[in-house]
Amino acid sequence: MTEHQIEAGSSVESQCKKCKTLTDHYVVVMVGEKISKVECKVCKARHAYAAPKAAKVKAPATPRPKKAALASSKQAQALTEQWEKMVAPCSKPLTYSMERTFAVGDVIEHPTFGLGCVLKTMKPCTVEIHFKDAIRNMRCGMIK
Ligand SMILES: [Zn+2]
Repeated sequence: MTEHQIEAGSSVESQCKKCKTLTDHYVVVMVGEKISKVECKVCKARHAYAAPKAAKVKAPATPRPKKAALASSKQAQALTEQWEKMVAPCSKPLTYSMERTFAVGDVIEHPTFGLGCVLKTMKPCTVEIHFKDAIRNMRCGMIK
């Protein structure tokens, strides 16, 4: 039963101040669509309608695992696996330098980021390199 269907004489649950609990009440007075006065079926007391406390449902306070964090760690794992497949077959990685140019598929070694595989070359002088932990855009020599 929704509140819209409630009218004087309907049965509703309300907090009864005398019974000090949730009891069945008759609706005595309606104000518009809202219940104003009720009569307790148990103690026959008439009082203002007090909505059952259970109706005020609070959001559960239990902390939920951060989905974003889980997704990013999975993503990182996939990235690492992909990286291993690309750099593993290479025995002689090229030394990274901002002056030299690279081709897609080249495996390079960077002093900070370690081994990486060139995914893309972007004119005039950027290479997208897949390192173990991330894909980074690196500076390279002028691409002709
Ligand atoms: Zn009562």
